[in-house]
Amino acid sequence: MIVLKFGGTSVQDSASMNRALAITAERIDKAPVLISSAMAKITDSLIETTVEAVAGNGTRALEIVDAIKERHLKCAYEFLKGKNLDYAGSRINEIITELRSILRGCAYLKECSPQSYDAVISCGELLSTVLLHARALEMGIDAVWLDSRQLIKTDSVYGEASVDFELTAAAVRNAISPQPGKLYIAQGFIGSDSNSLTTTLGRGGSDYSAAIFGSILDAREIQIWTDVNGIMTTDPRLVPEAKTINEISYEEAAELAFFGAKVVHPATIQPAVSKKIPVTVLNTRDPEGIFTRIAEKTAYEGLKAISGKKNVTLVTVVSSRMMNAVGFLARLFAIFQDHNTSVDLVSTSEVSVSMTINKTDKLAEIKADLEKLGSVSIEEDKAIVCLVGKGIWKDSRNITKAFAALEGTKIRMISLGASDTNLSALVPSHKLNEAIVALHKAFFG
Ligand code: ASP
Ligand code: MG
Repeated sequence: MIVLKFGGTSVQDSASMNRALAITAERIDKAPVLISSAMAKITDSLIETTVEAVAGNGTRALEIVDAIKERHLKCAYEFLKGKNLDYAGSRINEIITELRSILRGCAYLKECSPQSYDAVISCGELLSTVLLHARALEMGIDAVWLDSRQLIKTDSVYGEASVDFELTAAAVRNAISPQPGKLYIAQGFIGSDSNSLTTTLGRGGSDYSAAIFGSILDAREIQIWTDVNGIMTTDPRLVPEAKTINEISYEEAAELAFFGAKVVHPATIQPAVSKKIPVTVLNTRDPEGIFTRIAEKTAYEGLKAISGKKNVTLVTVVSSRMMNAVGFLARLFAIFQDHNTSVDLVSTSEVSVSMTINKTDKLAEIKADLEKLGSVSIEEDKAIVCLVGKGIWKDSRNITKAFAALEGTKIRMISLGASDTNLSALVPSHKLNEAIVALHKAFFG
C-alpha cells in the first residue's frame, strides 16, 4: 500500500482537489490511503474565529464561519451533483452547525478552552476530506471516508497531543485493509484522547499523520504532495538556478531542516524513518515532473544542499582554568540547559570554548552564570551557512572549493559535523545570502 498526503495548497479549491484525485486515481492499484490537510488558510481562519469569540465578537466569528462554509459549498457545487452533492452538502452543514455552537458558547463565556479550540480547528480537515470523498465517489472511485478522531488516539495535551501508538495501531488496522482498487480517505492533523475529545497534533501535523498511517500499515512509500518539485539545493527565491535534490537521506534532511530549510522535517515523519519507509515529496501541479526521495540511504554521496540560518549569536568563554579541568564543559553546557537554550555549533581550544545560540531571551542570565567560569564575550548579528551532504568531506577538494567560494567573507568559526554530514561556517549576517549564492555557484554551477 501507499500513503498519499495532500497539503493545504494541493486541496485549496475544486481544481486542486480534482488534480489531487486524478493523481490518486492513477495509483489506485497501489492500495492508496489518502491523508489530507484542510484547504489552504482554513486552519488560520478557524483560529481567528476562536480569537474573535474570546474577544466577545461572536458575530464576527460566525461571519468567518459563513465564509468558510461558502468556500466549501462553492467547491461542492463546482464538482458534484445529485446524491453526491446532497451528501457533501449535508455533511458540510453538520460540521458547520457544530462549529457554530462551539463558537457561540466560547463567545458567550468569552473563553475558549483547549478542548474547544481543538474541536474548532479540527473542522478544516473534516470539511476538506468530505469534499474529497464526495468527489472521489462522483468519479466512480470505490472510496471510504474515515474519521481520524476514531483512529489516531492521543493523550490530552490539546493543540500538541502525543500519539498512543499501540491504541492507534489497533484502531487503524481494524478500520483499514488496504487493497488495490479501493481508496481510504482520512484527515491529517486530528485525533482524539481517551475521553473521545478531539485533539490536534500541532500545526503542520498532517505530514506526521501520514507517517503514522504509513508506518502502521507498512506502506511501501509515503508520498507528500505539495506545490513544489520536492526539496531544492537551496532557497530558489535566493538562487533561481536551485535544482531539485533527487535523493536525500533522513539524516541529511534533518540537518537541512535544522539549518532553516523549509523541508519535510524528519522529526515529523519519524514513524516512517524508524520503519525505513521512503518518503517522496512531489508537486501536484507537475505530477510527472522531478521530485525528491527521502530514504535511509541514498545512491550517491556528496553535497546535497546549502542552507542558512540567521539570528545567530556567538558566545565565547575564555578560561585558563579550563586546561585539564575535569567536568568543565559539562558545567558550561549545564548553564545553557538551565536557561532552556540550545547550543548549535561548538568549537573548543585549550583555553576557550565558542558556542552559537539562536534563542537569546535568556542571554543576560546565561552570561552572568558563565562569568563564574571565565571571561565571556558575545558577538551578535551572525549567521550560519551550512553545506549538507554525507561524506563530502572525504574529498578535500570540496573543502578547498568551499573556502575559495567564501573568499572575502570573514569566517568567524567553522564546524565540520561529527557525522560527516555538514560543514558549517559562521559568517556576518549581512554576508549570508552572498555566501549561499557563491557556494551554490561553486558546487552546482
Ligand atoms: N491544517 C493544519 C495546519 O494548517 C495541519 C496541516 O496542514 O498539516 O497546521
Ligand atoms: Mg500545511
